[in-house]
Amino acid sequence: MKADHDIILRRSLEMMTKEYLVDEVLNSQIEISRLKSDLYDLHDQIGTYDMAVENSTEHPHGSFIFYLGAHEPSWLRHIELVGIPLFVSTRRLGRLKNMIPATTRWALDSGGFTELTMHGKWTVTPQEYITQVRRYHDEIGMMDWAAPQDWMCEPHMLERTGLTVEKHQENTISNYLDLKTLAPELPFIPVLQGWTRDDYLRHVQMYMEHDIDLEAENLIGLGSVCRRQASDEVATIATSLHPLRLHGFGAKKAAIVQYGSVLASADSMAWTVGGRKRPDPSCPKRTCGDCLHYALKWRNETIRGVNDRLVE
Ligand SMILES: [Zn+2]
Repeated sequence: MKADHDIILRRSLEMMTKEYLVDEVLNSQIEISRLKSDLYDLHDQIGTYDMAVENSTEHPHGSFIFYLGAHEPSWLRHIELVGIPLFVSTRRLGRLKNMIPATTRWALDSGGFTELTMHGKWTVTPQEYITQVRRYHDEIGMMDWAAPQDWMCEPHMLERTGLTVEKHQENTISNYLDLKTLAPELPFIPVLQGWTRDDYLRHVQMYMEHDIDLEAENLIGLGSVCRRQASDEVATIATSLHPLRLHGFGAKKAAIVQYGSVLASADSMAWTVGGRKRPDPSCPKRTCGDCLHYALKWRNETIRGVNDRLVE
């Protein structure tokens, strides 16, 4: 019965999204706001959306949300992506002249990896970042949370900045405090940074010294995990941070399958690499590096992998 109900709701949601998109083209503002509020209500009723794992007794957090990395901001209102959580970088959204209201839930990447790799420091001030995030939050809507301007701790990143792990950790906390103080209404999440397991544990203590109890937080980013060779290292780190509800930033398929059973959520753009290296032979394009069909297939396989591992 529950499943039937969800299917009916989902169909209504899709129909309403179509109507909403068409209507927006016709540019009738009153209708848009009515449809938008109906759309949000429906999303609320479905509640769980199209997550990777739902209501699982096998999973320590009961559920696992996978945010599909999207390089194309227009995917936030794509009819085939209604209900599928997305992960979009401010580096992509910042180029838009007009914000596009989303029709699916999503989370914001602060673009820190590129920023630190390019400049060895943050050139975007907290105030500037807040201005961007506030626009996305208010004009695009449906934002689950936003990453802070954190400092990754991969060895090559420390070389780039010339700073220590401890300094990167301090900078990450001080940015989070700035963002929360300047814009308490925006959904910034704290991020744990480090390289070894002990680094991450120490970072938890450092948050505590600033009166931030991470156990009380709904979600905490787990940084510097995406480019590691050994994904079991990530699982070990995540397990030692239990019961924190962690989000794993950018990972390969195998890693998501491996640590999807211990994290609350994760995101990935790794499908673009697969799409370039192993395009679908039936696709008319030469590469599937930016194809929606490829992204959805990759997502389904990944989620199936997480679920299979949970019941093993
Ligand atoms: Zn393709």
